[in-house]
Amino acid sequence: MKKVKKEKRRILLDFCEEKKHNIENYIKKGGFKALKRILKELKPDEVIEEVKNSGLKGRGGAGFPTGLKWHFIPKKIKPKFLICNADEGEPGTFKDRELLEKAPYLLIEGMTIASYAIGAEKAFIYLRKEYPLAKERLLNAIKDSIKHNFLGNRILGTKFSLDIKLFVGAGAYICGEETALLESMEGKKGLPRLKPPYPAVSGFLGYPTAVNNVETLCNVPLIMEKGAEWFRSFGTEKSPGTKIFSVSGAVKRPGIYEFEMGKITLSELVYEVCGAEKIEGVFPGGISTPPLKHGELDVSCDFESLFQKGTFLGSGGVIVFDREIPLIKILRKTAEFFKNESCGKCTPCREGTLWLWQILKEVEERKISKEGLDLAIEVCEKIKGKCLCPLGETCAISCEVFIRKFREEIEGEI
Ligand code: SF4
Repeated sequence: MKKVKKEKRRILLDFCEEKKHNIENYIKKGGFKALKRILKELKPDEVIEEVKNSGLKGRGGAGFPTGLKWHFIPKKIKPKFLICNADEGEPGTFKDRELLEKAPYLLIEGMTIASYAIGAEKAFIYLRKEYPLAKERLLNAIKDSIKHNFLGNRILGTKFSLDIKLFVGAGAYICGEETALLESMEGKKGLPRLKPPYPAVSGFLGYPTAVNNVETLCNVPLIMEKGAEWFRSFGTEKSPGTKIFSVSGAVKRPGIYEFEMGKITLSELVYEVCGAEKIEGVFPGGISTPPLKHGELDVSCDFESLFQKGTFLGSGGVIVFDREIPLIKILRKTAEFFKNESCGKCTPCREGTLWLWQILKEVEERKISKEGLDLAIEVCEKIKGKCLCPLGETCAISCEVFIRKFREEIEGEI
């Protein structure tokens, strides 16, 4: 995709050129330079320290500091595992797919550095089933990296070895939640685990495991090549670096874009960059994040600013909506998605999402009057704070905020 004004490409570098996903081109562009230097000069703890100093936060949605996550991995227990969470299932989010298809070597380098830092000799990529091209390219990239000794036994003549295996999921959204992902990898039904213990202490097969998102790991080689200070020179103090956004919905130019954190507002992104015209609202980070109304978009795109507005940056999956599709339908579809994807382990989520969807469907079909919206809010309130994992919680918050903010418009429709 062509770079647009204001974009600051760090991860998406060269994406407009085709065939950048072969190893010769990656090496020619300076790829694996960071890995070579680290293996020669740095101890694992020094890598963790550098990533901690960079302030890199997880790009999968939760925004947890990456260096800290690695720091929690106990040193003395063996084996340890690194898992790249490539189960990108949030509606409206497709930025990891681009990275997996077009920058597989950057990911492999990031995973190798991360594994070295935490002391893992085995790593996995948990890939979303619906990404067959990514699967093909990742398998090629793993094979070529082994051939060039960037992976496999005694990497670049050192004592460090790493084996990366691809694990393809079965298509369940809940397996994007890290503990459900671990259960699924262990051959069980993908149900979230009670936390604590956290995966850093007891993860895959009960051993210490770091689970990191694709975009997060792609930032690591850049930090280790250019330094934490360089990374901190972009973005804001609390949210350094860049962020990749996938924009879809009622816009003329949907696609993926990379900006410095906090240096573009949602309004600029949606109207100026993506060419939206008359819109009603935006989900800033996929449908799990409470929507903002068209008048609320003058907010910087970073973790803290969006949180202050009562929503989240999430995965950066910006979904823009107008009145082309009735708002009640968008709301009902949102509830329907969570109802279908609820794993059923806890009652408030399993029953609540079903009831919520049923009520909204009846409102949409005008079988019950607009008072049904009050009932829907009541159900959301009963789900909130009583769920084992974020799925039920985010469904309730997102749908409740949607009803409260767009109530007048929805009542007009029905
Ligand atoms: Fe499963 Fe929903 Fe409970 Fe999460 S909140 S564990 S998805 S039932």
